[in-house]
Amino acid sequence: MSDISPARSNPEPGGTPPREVDWLLADADWVLTCDAAMSAIPSGAVAIEGDTLVGVGSSRDIRSRFRGRNEMCLKGCLVAPGLINTHGHAAMSCFRGLGSDLPLERWLTEVIFPAEASHVTPEFVHYGTLLSCIEMLKGGTTTFCDGYFFEEEAARAAQESGIRAVLGQGILDFPTPDQPDPSRFAERAEAFLRSFPPGESRLQPSLFCHSISACGPETLRRVKSICRESGILFQIHLSETASEVEQVIGRYGTRPVHHLDRLGILDDRTLCAHAVWLDREEIDILAARGAGLSHNEESNMKLASGIAPVPELIGAGVRIGLGTDGCASNNDLDLFSEMDMVAKSHKAFRKDPMACSAAAVLRMATRGGSAVLSHQGMTGGIEEGWKADLIVIDLDQPHLTPLYDPISHLVYAAGAGDVRHVWVDGRLVVSNGTILTLDESRIMKEVLRIAGKIAGAS
Ligand SMILES: [Zn+2]
Repeated sequence: MSDISPARSNPEPGGTPPREVDWLLADADWVLTCDAAMSAIPSGAVAIEGDTLVGVGSSRDIRSRFRGRNEMCLKGCLVAPGLINTHGHAAMSCFRGLGSDLPLERWLTEVIFPAEASHVTPEFVHYGTLLSCIEMLKGGTTTFCDGYFFEEEAARAAQESGIRAVLGQGILDFPTPDQPDPSRFAERAEAFLRSFPPGESRLQPSLFCHSISACGPETLRRVKSICRESGILFQIHLSETASEVEQVIGRYGTRPVHHLDRLGILDDRTLCAHAVWLDREEIDILAARGAGLSHNEESNMKLASGIAPVPELIGAGVRIGLGTDGCASNNDLDLFSEMDMVAKSHKAFRKDPMACSAAAVLRMATRGGSAVLSHQGMTGGIEEGWKADLIVIDLDQPHLTPLYDPISHLVYAAGAGDVRHVWVDGRLVVSNGTILTLDESRIMKEVLRIAGKIAGAS
């Protein structure tokens, strides 16, 4: 049964009394640890103290060691690490579905860039990001990596929501809603970094150069240098379409990965989104430099950008996480449908059902995503000493009955609507499918008000 009722601690007679912790979650049908071996614990339990997982194991073991100030019996449920969305533009949920069914270049230049020039304000970013945080948290995503304008507002929204986030200020070589004079990009970047931290260890700043097409070599070099000095993540869209690669070759005489490598951009604190069009040499360079990739299959499919060489990238040892991209090109932030689509599309494209396994996809959505955000050893797994970022799936439903393989279920059968409870940093932020940290109906009303202006102008 999926009903949540108090669990009972069960100390060993005559043994050490159980340690009191903030949360004891026991009797889950399965705890999917997503550890290095992707192991699953039947009849599992976890103990949370503060922001940290202090106990992970069988219910019998954990109940003998811990007593919770708050306890839940999770019979009929599966516990998994919170999912990690490694690429998106959260504020763009205000543009959800705008300009569907166009190729990337036309969609950007005819629809998105003009809409951004007219409508993107601090208020747009604040409410759009709040809406996205609600969608992500209710759908089991506990960390997201973002890149947009007025990113201070995205940080404020993420802080209010309780989600974990890496927030990248967008940088381009042409006027943007928050930087009309592109020559002052470094000042804008530094002002954003000075505005951090907003007082939360869950939030980290980042800088996001839009793409090689939108950022010249000097901009890329300078922004990467600021990132290195500050010890933060550098983000960029890379080789999303074949025509983008041709443009880069035409302008710089070399393919995009070589171009970034010559500029000294690629290292383990660089995250490249999409990376659809790569040759063998580029894959080897990405692996050798330790650069991270965000694979955005649904966005790549919707914009007909192509199929990224994910099996080759995994085989070469390139670090990969999953991302949804912005709502306008997906058109949701659902990592469950993303996992399902990633596994199936690579199988279909290769005509090989073993091309991309459910375990490989779940690894990308959890510990793989954690690694590309430099959160390894902290999030993306249920392990003692790691952050308590957890989701609980209600298994007591027709489409999840019966269950032989919990990893297969999570990737191919479960959906965002099956998420019942979510903890981030040890804090319960979604309970019985309801967001506890934000006023969902008020935020939807504010977004509808903003959308009314966008619809009126188009
Ligand atoms: Zn993007």
